[in-house]
Amino acid sequence: MKLQNPEFAAPADADQRLGVEPVICYPVDTLPPAPLDLYRAAREGMEKISEALAPARDAVTFTVPDGHFFRIYSVDGPQVGDLNLWNANDLSERFYTGKTRALHGTHLSTGDRMWTSFPHMRPMATITADTLDWYGFDRFGGSVHDVIGTRCDPYTANTLSGAQYHNCCHSNLSRSLAAKTGRPIHEVEADVHDVLNVFMCTGFTHDTQQYFMKSSPVRPGDYLEFFAEIDLLGALSACPGGDCSTEHSSDLAACHPLKVEVYRPANDALAQANWQSPPRNGYDRSHGL
Ligand SMILES: [Zn+2]
Repeated sequence: MKLQNPEFAAPADADQRLGVEPVICYPVDTLPPAPLDLYRAAREGMEKISEALAPARDAVTFTVPDGHFFRIYSVDGPQVGDLNLWNANDLSERFYTGKTRALHGTHLSTGDRMWTSFPHMRPMATITADTLDWYGFDRFGGSVHDVIGTRCDPYTANTLSGAQYHNCCHSNLSRSLAAKTGRPIHEVEADVHDVLNVFMCTGFTHDTQQYFMKSSPVRPGDYLEFFAEIDLLGALSACPGGDCSTEHSSDLAACHPLKVEVYRPANDALAQANWQSPPRNGYDRSHGL
């Protein structure tokens, strides 16, 4: 945080420097837009092929073939979820929150894409429907589906309180990935990464710019829908924070499951449009050598 009483005096031209207008780092019109009309056409009549349930304070894995859709549903009560996504065929290619945030802003909604890590950097999923899109930003600067938080984890909890708590999203995601892959927990833990905070309502305070959370506006029946751009392995944790109105990293909050549904398109809209899974990034990786 910035000092309330700075140690160094402002220069004579401080007002001029402070008043410079900001420039958007990555204007959205420089990004190839997601073909939302195509995805909406492909979604017509789609058929559910599988579902999975993340129990309260636990996680579940699921797979989605490229060209398919998946939805994350609120079921029994307000609940936030921490989502990890990997290339199902190469777990070194994973969701990159920082670049996604730089490209699309702090909170995602319909039309935004989830980008993969270097050196792959390509869209892995596109958000195609968001029943909470009406929320926008509230008067506190809060909104839903952020890519600013990391995931609740036992290391931070231990640093702050000395606790040994095992149902933080980081541990839930690690256990579910270990079960899915058969690899040791300490090995797969390194594949767990910063998340999309599904349904979580967060922002930065206006005065100190500190990360805040508030009770999620999600209600049973709400969902976030994605189009899988590549073959995906997903892991979803039903955060021990429940609706994140008070605290996480404990068993105090009311907590609910989250449901994942995977759908196969029932029409040939994608084939008609010659849709193809995006190739890996075009940079030649020589780095000037
Ligand atoms: Zn969590």
